[in-house]
Amino acid sequence: MSAVTAASAAYIVAGLLFILSLAGLSKHETAKTGNVYGMAGMAIALVATVGLAASRDISALGAVLLVAAVLVGAVIGLWRARRVEMTGMPELIAMLHSFVGAAAVLVGWNGYLSVEARADEQTEVAGDLLGIHSAEVVIGVFIGAVTVTGSIVAFLKLSGRIKSNPLMLPAHNMLNLGALVAFVVLTVLFVIDPSLPLLIAVTVLALALGWHLVASIGGGDMPVVVSMLNSYSGWAAAASGFLLGNDLLILTGALVGSSGAYLSYIMCTAMNRSFLSVIAGGFGNEGAAAVDRDYGEHTEVSADQVADLLADARTVVITPGYGMAVAQAQGAVAELVRHLTDRGTDVRFGIHPVAGRLPGHMNVLLAEAKVPYDIVLEMDEINDDLAGTDVVLVIGANDTVNPAATDDPTSPIAGMPVLKVWEADQVIVFKRSMSTGYAGVQNPLFFRDNSRMLFGDARERVEDILVALPKPDRTTVGHGRQD
Ligand code: NDP
Repeated sequence: MSAVTAASAAYIVAGLLFILSLAGLSKHETAKTGNVYGMAGMAIALVATVGLAASRDISALGAVLLVAAVLVGAVIGLWRARRVEMTGMPELIAMLHSFVGAAAVLVGWNGYLSVEARADEQTEVAGDLLGIHSAEVVIGVFIGAVTVTGSIVAFLKLSGRIKSNPLMLPAHNMLNLGALVAFVVLTVLFVIDPSLPLLIAVTVLALALGWHLVASIGGGDMPVVVSMLNSYSGWAAAASGFLLGNDLLILTGALVGSSGAYLSYIMCTAMNRSFLSVIAGGFGNEGAAAVDRDYGEHTEVSADQVADLLADARTVVITPGYGMAVAQAQGAVAELVRHLTDRGTDVRFGIHPVAGRLPGHMNVLLAEAKVPYDIVLEMDEINDDLAGTDVVLVIGANDTVNPAATDDPTSPIAGMPVLKVWEADQVIVFKRSMSTGYAGVQNPLFFRDNSRMLFGDARERVEDILVALPKPDRTTVGHGRQD
């Protein structure tokens, strides 16, 4: 069997494993197996690719560079993945997408330097095929470069190195549209007469467009942006696959591209955002800005007072957010739940689809703390019950419980579905200060008559409550309220 046939067979197996991996990752129970399929597929793909290169009279220098690159990449990947906190995952993913984009740009440039730039010499690609090759070069470079800068801006926003507010340049939609038109014109010119200045122009244009597209998107929409960049990186990889004539890269790129696009669509629907508006860099968003309003005074409460309130409550709902992850409060929260359940209190969780910093963030933390799945409900499952709830504990959540999303059409997060915690009898908000959440907008919930602020680190405050909470009285267990 020739090396090419063996590699093709290995690629088919790897492609099937990637499909099985995606299917596995779509469900809680099968996610681990899905990961194993993905790793196995990637290992097979790598071995087959290296084997294929070795069979093609690779130079000694080429072989050394290949092995060194794989080793350096593997060491950096292992190091980062072991060190990353759950709260830092979206940043890491955004950074990794920028590498995929950069790889696509390099492959495109390499394609140009080895074919179009040597058109006078005898190359493998000639005649009509040259036009197709040139189109592949320019499209690959464009998608790759948009992905590079878009991912870097997403990384900077997610890690708080730059503000998450949307950048609203005058006529920003026209700028995006103009860049797309310029790209089409440059592509046509490049296919007719490939030249270095044209390729440089496409690269610079795409780098600027990627930066502008993501800079124009506000903090609240960042989850969608991360999955959209995931999709872009897939299409960039597919474009590289066409250039390199590598079927597996085309297949894998298409899988990543389409699943990322579908995930973005699902998230947009869940957050009541227009899919087109988000992928077009805030198209139609005319820049609702956070207005400084005077919402009045907030009221503070102590851990002891919250313990008394909880001791009297029949029904409690906990809505965790990013702050619970920062404080690593999930263990203490799980302990509090056990304590309250032992007293006969009905305790449930309400999870917003984008609570935390990545989809499913809260579910993973609560599972880690061994909170039973059946009391962890999705936002839509619990929202109607909040009006009849005695106490809601908002633990480190902010944007996901902001009533301005439903009440204030001028709010930057207007229209985003939120947990209606303010409909409960009493709301206790655990946070360290009055500062805003990820979207950078003030939360009128904190100033409502039925809201109380419990300031401090969420984990320490929950532990204080645990100490102050009266031990269950066996004669009243099952009633909750000790009238
Ligand atoms: P937010 O980011 O809106 O708010 C978190 C709150 O936690 C802050 O107000 C902060 O207040 C508080 N906090 C931080 N550290 C602590 C601590 N140690 N103890 C107590 N409180 C703390 O969180 P939400 O989960 O409500 O909303 C998620 C936001 O992130 C949304 O805007 C969403 O769009 C965005 N996002 C979500 C992603 C996802 O896929 N889930 C991905 C990227 C972004 P203070 O500083 O005063 O303590």
